[in-house]
Amino acid sequence: MVALISHNLDTLSEKLIDVAIRMAVGFKVRNFKLKTTPSSFENIIGKALENTSRQLSKVVRGELHCGLCGKGPFSRKGLYLHLLRIHRYEVKSLIAEELQRAENLG
Ligand SMILES: [Zn+2]
Repeated sequence: MVALISHNLDTLSEKLIDVAIRMAVGFKVRNFKLKTTPSSFENIIGKALENTSRQLSKVVRGELHCGLCGKGPFSRKGLYLHLLRIHRYEVKSLIAEELQRAENLG
């Protein structure tokens, strides 16, 4: 299990960037299926996505701000684009970290 995730960690994190950002801004995430992912990983991935997306946005006085640099307020779409353009690689490494953490917690 450990080997499988670390083997794919980079590829997997890359694929999950968009999903994590969508979750962070409250967009509907269409049922994403990673074809190469065994279903036993789905819990780990779900947990990692939740933990990541929670860090990507924050609500200040009822308005949406970037959780990473504090900029805002943004519309949902604005924050989505901001995270994707400015923080893409940070989001990716957060996902990788959270995947490893979720995996270790089993
Ligand atoms: Zn930001």
